[in-house]
Amino acid sequence: MEEIKLAPKPQGYEGEGFFATKLSEVIGLARANSLWPLPFATSCCGIEFMATMGSNYDLARFGMERMSFSPRQADLLMVMGTIAKKMGPILRQVYEQMAEPKWVLSVGACACSGGIFDSYSVLQGIDKVIPVDVYVPGCPPRPEQIMDGIIKIQDLVKEESLRRRYSEEYKHLLESYNIS
Ligand code: SF4
Repeated sequence: MEEIKLAPKPQGYEGEGFFATKLSEVIGLARANSLWPLPFATSCCGIEFMATMGSNYDLARFGMERMSFSPRQADLLMVMGTIAKKMGPILRQVYEQMAEPKWVLSVGACACSGGIFDSYSVLQGIDKVIPVDVYVPGCPPRPEQIMDGIIKIQDLVKEESLRRRYSEEYKHLLESYNIS
């Protein structure tokens, strides 16, 4: 049987029978390895995501086999596919319904910039309506790229200060999107 790999422990001090670290490191470690993604998939990039979830790539290895289709039980919004302008307010509503802390992964050229659809009806990037943490380029991105984006999100989550969500910068960011 293969050995189970454990998540690397955070920085800290250890000795015989003890290990001490910062609370924020422990919380970051727990959050990063138990993200609950909400897949907001509208078109072909969603199919790549399905492959990423399948047994070959197995996203469950990252502690995220539990997809959430309720914004209230999700902390990672994954937007995959073409977002029509009419859909922008819905995406924004889903984002607003998610509790803090929350992160956003924009998957594929359409979600990041409108992709090839430079037309009157397509939103030219989801960052027009919600803040984005990590962008994954490609049309479509390979599952490896999606996983790379997720690993980058995990790095952000691990490093994020517990106070960030109360910071002036974060309030300004939300204000710039008219989100209270
Ligand atoms: S980026 Fe390409 S693959 Fe992804 S939704 Fe747009 S057209 Fe489809």
